Amino acid sequence: MKQGTKCIRAGYAPGNGEPRQVPIVQSTTFRYETSEDMGRLFDLEAEGYFYTRLQNPTCDLVAAKIAALEGGTAGMLTSSGQAANFFAVFNIATAGDHVVASSSIYGGTFNLFAVTMAKMGVEFTFISPDCTPDELEAAFKPNTKAVFGETIANPALTVLDIEKFATAAHAHGVPLIVDNTFPTPIMCRPIEWGADIVTHSTTKYMDGHSSALGGCIVDAGRFDWMAHAEKFPGLTTPDESYHGITYAERFGLEGAFITKATAQLMRDFGSMASPQNAYLLNLGLESLHVRMERHGESAQAIAEHLAAHPRVSWVSFPGLPGDKYHGLAEKYLPNGSCGVISFGVAGGRAAAECFMRNLKVAHIATHVADAATCCLHPASSTHRQMNDEQLAAAGVPADLVRLSVGLEDVSDLLADIDQALKPLSRI
Ligand SMILES: *Cc1c(COP(=O)(O)O)cnc(C)c1O
Repeated sequence: MKQGTKCIRAGYAPGNGEPRQVPIVQSTTFRYETSEDMGRLFDLEAEGYFYTRLQNPTCDLVAAKIAALEGGTAGMLTSSGQAANFFAVFNIATAGDHVVASSSIYGGTFNLFAVTMAKMGVEFTFISPDCTPDELEAAFKPNTKAVFGETIANPALTVLDIEKFATAAHAHGVPLIVDNTFPTPIMCRPIEWGADIVTHSTTKYMDGHSSALGGCIVDAGRFDWMAHAEKFPGLTTPDESYHGITYAERFGLEGAFITKATAQLMRDFGSMASPQNAYLLNLGLESLHVRMERHGESAQAIAEHLAAHPRVSWVSFPGLPGDKYHGLAEKYLPNGSCGVISFGVAGGRAAAECFMRNLKVAHIATHVADAATCCLHPASSTHRQMNDEQLAAAGVPADLVRLSVGLEDVSDLLADIDQALKPLSRI
């Protein structure tokens, strides 16, 4: 199946007379005839459901669709993108371990790694995605267990050289985890470039309609845990909390990572997606291929328009030929990147605030990747506690506006931007 067909058909194939749409199995619990039947499920000897905190049929069907889209062997849904990234890393790195991460990542993920997981004893080294192979090499330690990056970073819009990061990770016998939220598997499939684990905030383009928070983890099913058994005891030695199962032996390359994340982390942390949210996510996935194409086309047109506008001082968008990441985008994102653009309003903070006030179509929202165009001026909202110097140091200058281009008619969006920029010539 091609990607567009998978968006609609993968994961769920209704039989004769069965519902066309994925059924919402709104049940916490599943009934069995005998205790022995249920015992086989607990021993992971038979497949089936017993409690929705571990697995639910609706969630599994939707996870299978995302796994198919990414070209992986297994997937799991989580209640949020934050939970997906936490589980993806914590499944293999615990107290005393070390992880190499790109410094250009989502702020929520940075806090999770640098503050919360640090308190749990996992140490992170952050490295510029633009580092040389030697600099990357120098970031590894004997206890490094994973490498992490974002295909297109939110909100910096840096493009990750996936092959460079995968080569370094594999040379050290550890997997590369890539957060593929912004491009989605329609624009980039990191597994084809060497990523071993792919994560998503499905809250963004996959849902696409600002309706359901969610996350997903997909395993490429290629990383050989047993070949590096001493690094990954959680996968390669018996789990005493789960009937002495050794995940890598019992479930092989294709199933070990996700089975451990389900049987151990989901059981203990309980960050399960609700079946209702999985259903909403699946509705979004059915049109993902069509929507991503439009998000990409409209963003390209708007980025080009902004780049030529006298009231705009700079534009960051990997689809622009002059962009720092255009070369990497041509390699990894040949069909378009995503719908998010950052740009500077000439005249700095005051001009950017005025531009935001003038917008009539674009919503002011912290969200991105929605059918509705949304716009954020970090200096006067999310980052308002910082002064101009601090903002510049954080890579979020006071004139920066982040625009997430939605699915409205692009001529209405261009007209809205123009009318909002026009009065600024007087500032
Ligand atoms: C939003 C986002 C997250 C966090 O996802 P939530 O669903 O908000 O928890 C993680 N990574 C990236 C790249 C994001 O854009």
